[in-house]
Amino acid sequence: MKRRNFIKKASATGLGLVTVSSTFISCDETSEKKEAIVSTAKSIKPLVIATWETTLAVDTAAAVLEKGGSALEAVEQGCRIEEANEKGQSVGKGGLPDRDGDVTLDACIMNEKGDYGAVLGVKNIMHVISVARKVMEDTPHVMLVGDGAEKFAVSKGFEPENLLTAASKKAWEAWKVTAEYKPIINIENHDTIGMLAIDKKGNISGACTTSGLAYKMAGRVGDSPIIGGGLFVDNEIGGASATGLGEEVLKTVGSFLIVELMRQGKSPQEACEMAIGRIVNKPGKDFKNFQVGYIAVNKQGETGAYSIHEWFSYNVYKNKENKHIQSDFFNKA
Ligand code: ASP
Repeated sequence: MKRRNFIKKASATGLGLVTVSSTFISCDETSEKKEAIVSTAKSIKPLVIATWETTLAVDTAAAVLEKGGSALEAVEQGCRIEEANEKGQSVGKGGLPDRDGDVTLDACIMNEKGDYGAVLGVKNIMHVISVARKVMEDTPHVMLVGDGAEKFAVSKGFEPENLLTAASKKAWEAWKVTAEYKPIINIENHDTIGMLAIDKKGNISGACTTSGLAYKMAGRVGDSPIIGGGLFVDNEIGGASATGLGEEVLKTVGSFLIVELMRQGKSPQEACEMAIGRIVNKPGKDFKNFQVGYIAVNKQGETGAYSIHEWFSYNVYKNKENKHIQSDFFNKA
């Protein structure tokens, strides 16, 4: 996930938003017209959308779907790619640590039945998205936190390992020199992979995984593992996921808000824009120093994305093509 590189590339190639026409089928359509619309609906499946420059993760998810795998399996496999990517310093192994030097990971997953599993503040386990899935499928709970989550992961066969790579340790040590141990909200040191997929059966699932804000206070948890914050899926309507300053996403229950707006008839794009509006239009809100970005998809396969600032991008796999797209953004001035 190299967003700075992307900005340069995007402005050079003039990438634009991908849009798909609506595929609602109304009762009074003629059968000929219905056939045409249904074939459009088919052509949007399978579909994957994910935050940032996550090309390999999206390709991996798409390959699962093309083989007839479920949306749930696809988003798990896709997110695992970024969790294992040590160069991405905001997810999984190699994630930047908290201010005490501990890498703590947050993740959640949601299936087409509306089931949900999450883990919060987990140390020493790389594939927290898979642990979240186990919480959903193998426990009567929806969230496990800290040591309990780690013990559960180990009991399920996950290998504990040190997640702090030499590069992330070096960055943390450099941070300590100037930061005076203050957790700083800024727009540089975080990112998350949020991923939504529609499988060949038309079912929607989503997943979200992160190491959270770099150099956060020990114990801090953001939006990413919280239902309705970093992720929400309703198989009848669509799904949404967030990246950026989790505190602001949580205060506006962003992903749930987007799905509810789509339920009221808004397109994914309109819903993402309205959710960003909820944040930036608060009285006195100074959004210059933080970023929030949303992605969304509806049941008809329309996609949307919006962010406060320009440097937000996402990938969409549709019709056998994986496109990396510059998000539209609020702060155009
Ligand atoms: N949303 C994540 C969090 O607040 C971080 C990010 O996506 O940048 O933990």
